[in-house]
Amino acid sequence: MSEDVEKVRLPLAEVGLDDHSEELADRSEVDAQVGFFRAMAEIDMGSGDLLERLARAVAEAVFDLCLIYLVDPEEPGARDLTCAAAYHPDREALENLHCFFADLPRGGDGLVRHVIQRQSLYFRPRFAPGLLQPYSTDELPELKVPIHSLIVVPMITGDGRCLGALLVGRHATTASFSDRDLALMEWIASHATTKLENARLYRDLQAAVQERDTFISIASHELRTPLSTLKLQAQILQRLAQRDPAALTPAKIMEKMASFDRNIDRMDALIDQLLNVSRLMDGTLTTQTAPCDLRLIVDDAATRLSVELQASGSALHNGVQDPVRGTWDENRLDHILTNLISNAIKYGRGNPITIACDQTPETVSLEVRDQGHGILPGHLDRIFARFERGTQGSRQGLGLGLWIVREYVESMGGTIEVESVPDQGSTFRLRLPRHC
Ligand code: ADP
Repeated sequence: MSEDVEKVRLPLAEVGLDDHSEELADRSEVDAQVGFFRAMAEIDMGSGDLLERLARAVAEAVFDLCLIYLVDPEEPGARDLTCAAAYHPDREALENLHCFFADLPRGGDGLVRHVIQRQSLYFRPRFAPGLLQPYSTDELPELKVPIHSLIVVPMITGDGRCLGALLVGRHATTASFSDRDLALMEWIASHATTKLENARLYRDLQAAVQERDTFISIASHELRTPLSTLKLQAQILQRLAQRDPAALTPAKIMEKMASFDRNIDRMDALIDQLLNVSRLMDGTLTTQTAPCDLRLIVDDAATRLSVELQASGSALHNGVQDPVRGTWDENRLDHILTNLISNAIKYGRGNPITIACDQTPETVSLEVRDQGHGILPGHLDRIFARFERGTQGSRQGLGLGLWIVREYVESMGGTIEVESVPDQGSTFRLRLPRHC
């Protein structure tokens, strides 16, 4: 089997050309390259039919048929190989080709997978279906397309990743592939690979721009909310001072001031999140570890959030009663705790919130449990991603909190996970080595 794959190039003398050699000679390599380039130039980076057009351009440059196989970048070792695009006038023939070369009905990897896995090309100027027997553990299906010359080239990027493979063949009525065709095919594969890489980068870039735009609109919306409330409160105060100064009692002023304070805190927290994200992303956020007591940090965060707790109706059961000492970054721990408790308040539907802690000499495990909306199973992984906001409950926030939390936890060598049952609540569990 391996011998068949390795022995890829046959010397021209052994190949021989059939009766159509003159016809082929008329079509110069340069013509084919120019044709291919012209077709490629017309392909718009973002076009959805890039691969179909690529297959057509290759088939027209090198003759008869072309199948393009792409590896799933998420799962490069996946068993199923899908044909991303193909060009042959006859649809049924394409299905038969796919079945014969890639999707063997009874097992075996198939020729295309061998080419991709070994990143080595397969060249048979005189091809016969029997040559592929070593690629199947069972009997091969019948090849209904009369292919008599075949090239399968891996598509390898500059940094050595294999994106997939290009399969081209010629019918019995046309000339066999020559060494020149092979060189042309390698050249085409390398250009097609670049084109595909560029298209992928372009798509990623578009997605990143879209993500940034969404983020900017969420951020401006979120920042405007406390700002509008502040403005409204200020206008009410102003009007009251003009129309009924006697009504401006110290109690009234204090009430308004407390509301000012809350909204300013909210804006402060949002701006803080934005700054932390950019610092985390460019690696300029510094870690300052020192001996500290997690119990005090929990107490502090709970005290700071007492107004929100009261407003939500949730009672907080703080089970961290003994000192929990370790060497951590106190600011980051404070941020983590504040975030988890705020979320429990925000999504807890006024039900009790529990904080529990378990410690061993090496590790500390802390959980924040609420009995609120819960998180849909499909969202459990996503909520830790940047800009992800769930669909349950309040949609307030930048979708950054848990991303920052996870970054902080991991920066201290810890892990964070969540368990949740929709409509019953969520438990966020944090595990930290005692000394990071
Ligand atoms: P945000 O600041 O927008 O709340 P987070 O990153 O903190 O962003 O949370 C992301 C999403 O995770 C939220 O939009 C919410 O849907 C979900 N989530 C976080 N904590 C909880 C919780 N305790 N209960 C239910 N859903 C939660």
